Amino acid sequence: MARFGMAIDTVRCVGCMDCVVACKTENSVPEGFNRDWIATEVTGTFPTLHMEIRSERCNHCDSPPCVHCCPTGASHVHDVGGVVLVDYDKCIGCKACVASCPYGARFINPSGYAEKCTFCIHRVEQGLLPACVSVCPTHCMHFGDLDDPNSEVSQLLASRNHHSLLPEAGTKPRIFYLT
Ligand code: SF4
Ligand code: SF4
Ligand code: SF4
Repeated sequence: MARFGMAIDTVRCVGCMDCVVACKTENSVPEGFNRDWIATEVTGTFPTLHMEIRSERCNHCDSPPCVHCCPTGASHVHDVGGVVLVDYDKCIGCKACVASCPYGARFINPSGYAEKCTFCIHRVEQGLLPACVSVCPTHCMHFGDLDDPNSEVSQLLASRNHHSLLPEAGTKPRIFYLT
């Protein structure tokens, strides 16, 4: 089985937010909420400062607390690519998953269920790339199978320095930031 993930090149990202707009449009994300967002982080000491710009979303963690805590089984690991999804019909909107996610990746849709990035599984299952990946004008986002050593994501991770977010949380995120 594939294990989908992303490698996102922070050197190429210019923070244009095309990925954010594409996601909102593709997934009809309600007003006031986002499935992806741009984060900036400044490190170093003046005048030697470095700013990292990142497109962030659910990390589709290998050890997802949002799945482990869900009382109804609504939050689950999908058969295809191990993507973490929510079965909206089973969700009771209890917010346990929202509280458990250390990345703030989830919100409660005004209709009462938990929502977040799906890795655009509806597109991927048709052989398309996730909407955010497909529109990026600098081609900084790469999506694919982390378990295939020949995939573009695996090759990038093998050849570039990278990090993931909050590794100390023990969630084993599957989005990696190339530096
Ligand atoms: Fe769950 Fe948050 Fe990990 Fe996504 S990033 S799988 S919502 S814990
Ligand atoms: Fe499960 Fe829904 Fe509660 Fe999240 S809000 S833990 S998906 S029942
Ligand atoms: Fe949104 Fe799809 Fe990108 Fe996830 S993969 S952030 S759902 S466009």
